[in-house]
Amino acid sequence: MKLILLGAPGAGKGTVAKLLTKLDGSVQISTGDILRGAVAAGTDLGKKAQDFMNAGDLVPDDLIMDIMKARLQEDDCKSGYLLDGFPRTIPQAEQLKTLLADIGDELDCTVNIEVPRDVILDRLTTRRTCTGCGEIYNTKSNPPKTEGKCDKCGGDVVQRDDETEAAISNRLDVYTEKTAPLVGFYEGEGNLLTVDATSSDAVINAIKGKLGI
Ligand code: AMP
Repeated sequence: MKLILLGAPGAGKGTVAKLLTKLDGSVQISTGDILRGAVAAGTDLGKKAQDFMNAGDLVPDDLIMDIMKARLQEDDCKSGYLLDGFPRTIPQAEQLKTLLADIGDELDCTVNIEVPRDVILDRLTTRRTCTGCGEIYNTKSNPPKTEGKCDKCGGDVVQRDDETEAAISNRLDVYTEKTAPLVGFYEGEGNLLTVDATSSDAVINAIKGKLGI
């Protein structure tokens, strides 16, 4: 499977991607996870990205494209990939199109996951993330067994710096302004699947139906 998962922050792209990896061995590629890893490791990329991320702004396109040009040519991508949080701007989508043509890859489809804004706001303010392995928790619906500690790796479970109310509100505005136009872009490409969904199972079933799997 080679898919783009499109949707506002908190729409459930990461959860859906993780479920899809179990179906056929495709890899999840989350630019947000790659950037958070770079920030934690204190690399040049991390230093350049950190302030944009904390404010809920987008990291410049050229940094993202450098990451993705390298990532999409790694060996594990041969078995398929689920792009989670990329592309996020029209220039990224255009450059991805050129990159895929250059490396001879074709996407199966772009999945646009639509979730009402009030559901998203509630999800993001209650979301907690493991700093060790990236596992996602929710203070209301799925808290870790021991408060603040990851069930899987024992790492610290925290609220992300960009999940304060101010940063979330900015991220949703940035999504509307910069990323939502990609819906029209991929509609024009003729391979968009829009799913109105508040449950990840409904999204998975719609994708299975579309791809005939
Ligand atoms: P995410 O975990 O996908 O919500 O990403 C967290 C943050 O990383 C975003 O708010 C952006 O600052 C940055 N980011 C992730 N992916 C991209 C991208 N494709 N383009 C620009 N910035 C990105």
